[in-house]
Amino acid sequence: MSQVHVLPPTNPSHFAQSPPPSPLQFAQRPPWSAPDEHESLFPALPPLLHGHPDLHLRNGILNAAASDAEGAESAFFVADLTQVYRQHLRWRACLPQIQPFYAVKCNPDPYVLRLLAALGAGFDCASNGEISQVLDIGGIHPSRIIFANPCKAVSFVRNAAKMGVDMMTFDNADELYKIARAHPRAQLVVRILTDDSKSLCQLGIKFGAPLATVPGLLAKAKELGLAVVGVSFHVGSGCYDPSVYTDAVMRARTAFDMGADAGHRFTLLDVGGGFEDAVFEQAASFLSDAIDTYFPDRSGIKIIAEPGRFYVSKAFSLATNIIARRAPLGETPAASSEEPSVMYYINDGVYGAFNCILFDHQTAHPHVLSMGGSFHVPADEPLHTSSVWGPTCDSIDCVCPTTQLPRALRVGDWLGFDNMGAYTICAASQFNGFQLSKVVYTTSGSSEVRSVLAKFAAGDVVDV
Ligand SMILES: *Cc1c(COP(=O)(O)O)cnc(C)c1O
Repeated sequence: MSQVHVLPPTNPSHFAQSPPPSPLQFAQRPPWSAPDEHESLFPALPPLLHGHPDLHLRNGILNAAASDAEGAESAFFVADLTQVYRQHLRWRACLPQIQPFYAVKCNPDPYVLRLLAALGAGFDCASNGEISQVLDIGGIHPSRIIFANPCKAVSFVRNAAKMGVDMMTFDNADELYKIARAHPRAQLVVRILTDDSKSLCQLGIKFGAPLATVPGLLAKAKELGLAVVGVSFHVGSGCYDPSVYTDAVMRARTAFDMGADAGHRFTLLDVGGGFEDAVFEQAASFLSDAIDTYFPDRSGIKIIAEPGRFYVSKAFSLATNIIARRAPLGETPAASSEEPSVMYYINDGVYGAFNCILFDHQTAHPHVLSMGGSFHVPADEPLHTSSVWGPTCDSIDCVCPTTQLPRALRVGDWLGFDNMGAYTICAASQFNGFQLSKVVYTTSGSSEVRSVLAKFAAGDVVDV
């Protein structure tokens, strides 16, 4: 492909004319912008809207079409807080005995943090910055934080002591020396190595004490006068083989027994993260069975977990604008061609929200949000093999190397991506001068989420 097909710019006035009619045709403006709906629970945050996320995806597109302001066509997220709430209900139904400590690194979104705080969750923080982010919300006691990074700068340990964050993980002896100096009152949790070979992101090459080293570490902690209170593990992020929890809990049991032998009193089992939406129920079942098997007597033991992606993955969708297209001039390519014949360039990419492709081993699946000024894409619309690229000048910036998209898709049309909540926004950069995509928030149809947040804003925690 060597020629650039220059297309006429899409004119917003096309939107009003284009057939076929659909209930949400561009010409029509949904009644979302009534001022009283922008009531602000948290004045410093963007407004919290009502209405289905799809409605807000469409509204964003309509607004862009109606505006000639700079950046009007910017990509944007729609976050559905009710989806986060739904995941919490699922958690409570399947793992009622395990308190989630949300892994902040996955998506430190201010509304997500507040909603989870309101629902009584704790937080897994890995840095001073994350600890401040959680404590600055207000109303969250530092005992609801686990500093779950086994390798911390000594200044971070000192700061945790100052902030009252006592619970922290370790997996090596040097960490114990640091903690003995900087936070001798800490409640330590030994992070053990477990099998993470079935996960998208393996963490065991970096963290986790092999069981054989645990007695030595526990003895060292004792010698330094440090309290070790429990065991943690992480089966790897994005775990597709839920059966690995069985082996992990068995190892944790062994570590508990080592704790008793070393004269520590273990009261905490932390089963980490890794929970994948698609296999959550199976994982929960393996985990519960393993806990029943290896911890039949759980009196005096608190069980926590550190779910990240489980809570947020499905809650965020991204709308991107096609800013450029490269297609052969003249004859339309054969529809059956397996090689991508058309390249689309969108305004977010792997240096932005799609960094999850590089860092989190994800694949992106676009769908058409709007085409030719309409939200309606006929089912029999002819497709062709295409590729989708981000906006930067780097060729690594490929969002989707091959996918089927309508032949009629042009510059100015919009592509949507679902499941964009985990490990996306938080790791996005502004490489090449591109802005981060903004977030539009909605509680969807649920008044419950709004009332949970309202109670939290007023100082109450609702334990659902
Ligand atoms: C990243 C991480 C998590 C969250 O993992 P998910 O797969 O998103 O659930 C939990 N605990 C620790 C220590 C982590 O590093």
